[in-house]
Amino acid sequence: MKLNILIMGPAGAGKGTMSELIEKKYNIAHISTGDMFRNEIKNNTQLGQRASEYIKQGLLVPDELTIEMVLNRLSQPDCDNGYLLDGFPRSLIQANVFDTKVIETPKDVNLVINLTVDKEALIDRIVNRRICRKCGAVYNINTLPPKQEGICDECGGELYQRADDNRESLERRMQSYEVETTPVLTHYKRLNLVHDINASQTIEKVWADVEKVIDEYLAQNTQKEEM
Ligand code: ADP
Ligand code: ZN
Repeated sequence: MKLNILIMGPAGAGKGTMSELIEKKYNIAHISTGDMFRNEIKNNTQLGQRASEYIKQGLLVPDELTIEMVLNRLSQPDCDNGYLLDGFPRSLIQANVFDTKVIETPKDVNLVINLTVDKEALIDRIVNRRICRKCGAVYNINTLPPKQEGICDECGGELYQRADDNRESLERRMQSYEVETTPVLTHYKRLNLVHDINASQTIEKVWADVEKVIDEYLAQNTQKEEM
């Protein structure tokens, strides 16, 4: 059965962590626009060069560039089984284009998972966040430190801090979330697709809540298919 999910929430809400767990358990393609852009930047592509000016400052990358990148990605065969879209749509323009393109296809959205966290906690999570250069594992120097400073427990890779994980960019990212992304959430709330999850809890508890939402959706819709 197809399972198309959007995961939303401000920077630091834990979208990456939950996405990894969802991807593993439900076997759907994880599409993170942030990761895709960082990859383009690493490979120094034309898109990467254009995107990096915006990302460093904590601004959204222009809609045309983002939309084209995502639609290309969604047309790949690994998305046929379902997708988990992380970081898109992040503006009403993106949401409208996306909805029109997918609405009559099996790629339309089934669930929106909205991770909520208060602002103080977000700042703390982001400023203390460290990421493995090799495998992408995420640490927090206060709450989830690696066993050895600066080194990944999983793979021994070097830990780094994202160029936009500083107070100044973060302030702008939070502002752009308020101004540009909150209307996207309102839009999907009107369609009754949004499930709010309290993401201030421990990772285990947040995951239990996320799993419950997805499993309930699957249980209800498998029954319908059988009837
Ligand atoms: P976070 O959610 O932690 O802010 P992401 O890794 O999802 O970070 O994204 C990092 C940056 O990539 C964003 O601040 C923005 O500049 C850019 N970006 C990601 N997704 C989009 C999008 N849908 N539209 C425009 N810019 C985006
Ligand atoms: Zn690693």
